[in-house]
Amino acid sequence: MALIVHKYGGTSMGSTERIRSVAQRVAKWVRAGHQLVVVPSAMSGETNRLLGLAKELLPNPQTPQALREMDAVAATGEQVSVGLLALALQAQGLQAVSYGGWQVPIATDSAYTKARIASIDDQRVRADLAAGKVVVITGFQGIDPQGHVTTLGRGGSDTSAVAVAAALKAAECLIYTDVDGVYTTDPRIVPEARRLATISFEEMLEMASLGSKVLQIRSVEFAGKYRVPVRVLSSFTPWDIPLEEEAKSGTLITFEEDEKMEQAVVAGIAFNRDEAKISVIGVPDRPGIASQIVGPVADANIDIDVIIQNVSHDGRTDFSFTVPRSDYARAMAVLQEQVMPAIGAARLAGDAKICKVSIVGIGMRSHVGVASKMFRTLSEEGINIQMITTSEIKTCVVIDEKYMELAVRALHKAFELEQAPVAAA
Ligand code: ADP
Ligand code: ASP
Ligand code: MG
Repeated sequence: MALIVHKYGGTSMGSTERIRSVAQRVAKWVRAGHQLVVVPSAMSGETNRLLGLAKELLPNPQTPQALREMDAVAATGEQVSVGLLALALQAQGLQAVSYGGWQVPIATDSAYTKARIASIDDQRVRADLAAGKVVVITGFQGIDPQGHVTTLGRGGSDTSAVAVAAALKAAECLIYTDVDGVYTTDPRIVPEARRLATISFEEMLEMASLGSKVLQIRSVEFAGKYRVPVRVLSSFTPWDIPLEEEAKSGTLITFEEDEKMEQAVVAGIAFNRDEAKISVIGVPDRPGIASQIVGPVADANIDIDVIIQNVSHDGRTDFSFTVPRSDYARAMAVLQEQVMPAIGAARLAGDAKICKVSIVGIGMRSHVGVASKMFRTLSEEGINIQMITTSEIKTCVVIDEKYMELAVRALHKAFELEQAPVAAA
């Protein structure tokens, strides 16, 4: 008998029929002798619908008071899901109880719409499990120190599930979704993409942080910090396939560099069009200028990503960086009002129609020429690279948004990701 956490995403919870199938699957695990905690998302489309309603009434919520109410609205999607799933489980003859994040409680900070989990109290859940109940806990929700409902950012139910698994020291956290695992790239963009049987934790962390939305990045961070075994698998297989088969399906995130692991140099390609580029042109090239530009933007709680500074000519340089597209207007306003008057730059330019495309693989540590192959492939397609950033296990480029799919397909082909790599001897 093991304590297992299941997470079901929006499509998996998309209708009462789907919810019944989830309940049947969970019942199969319970009847096999396991203790189950289930973390569902809102039904597909529901969070978008709720946020759309809110924005009809206040189009650009920015103040903490407004963001608090956005969370009050958005969190209701998961509230409905847990109740429905608990009812479906009871219909299967199981004992089941649902909880909102505040009832567990899942304690977070007060950063509405992107709150971070601080701690999870496991007592209530443990007591229910000991009493033979299936516990259903809302994904995406938490509660801040003042008792206000918070949400964890889009895709946050993954993080709720892994954090709950960490708090309960669960044997495994199974993330059931609408694909049957983690692929070399999003199979919606490249139909030839191949499912990976395993992916290393470091690669998964990079893939998630570079835009692959199959897992929210914080869920991967939690998995690493608490060594939670996480598997991504499909909720669209028939619910009654043998449990042993299901338990081995999908993609397992591994922590050891196992010799038998697939040995591809590039494991996958991630892309992200949720960013925008900002350039401060003709900046006096003197010490402290970078912090004068970036500081006020960071103080406004805007994440800055790829940064480049050109070689200076005649004592002046250009300084560019990317920000989340949702923060683009705010970042431009901060720069225009606070930074431009102070630094004496020639002008400010912005481009919201960019995207980031990245290749990721731990094999890049020991192989040379991977980045140059990436650049060559893009140039053969006539794609201009605007910015480049690298780490030991990734190379990331910023390009015009309109070339994103072309770039991803060309790179997938160039690195032969549709073919299984030859296993190491
Ligand atoms: P859920 O609602 O279950 O959380 P998401 O839509 O958040 O599901 O994540 C699953 C989706 O992630 C898939 O349908 C797929 O289009 C997308 N995706 C992006 N990159 C990858 C990848 N490398 N492997 C698998 N799926 C990916
Ligand atoms: N329902 C939330 C969202 O759509 C959380 C999640 O699905 O993980 O972002
Ligand atoms: Mg998701």
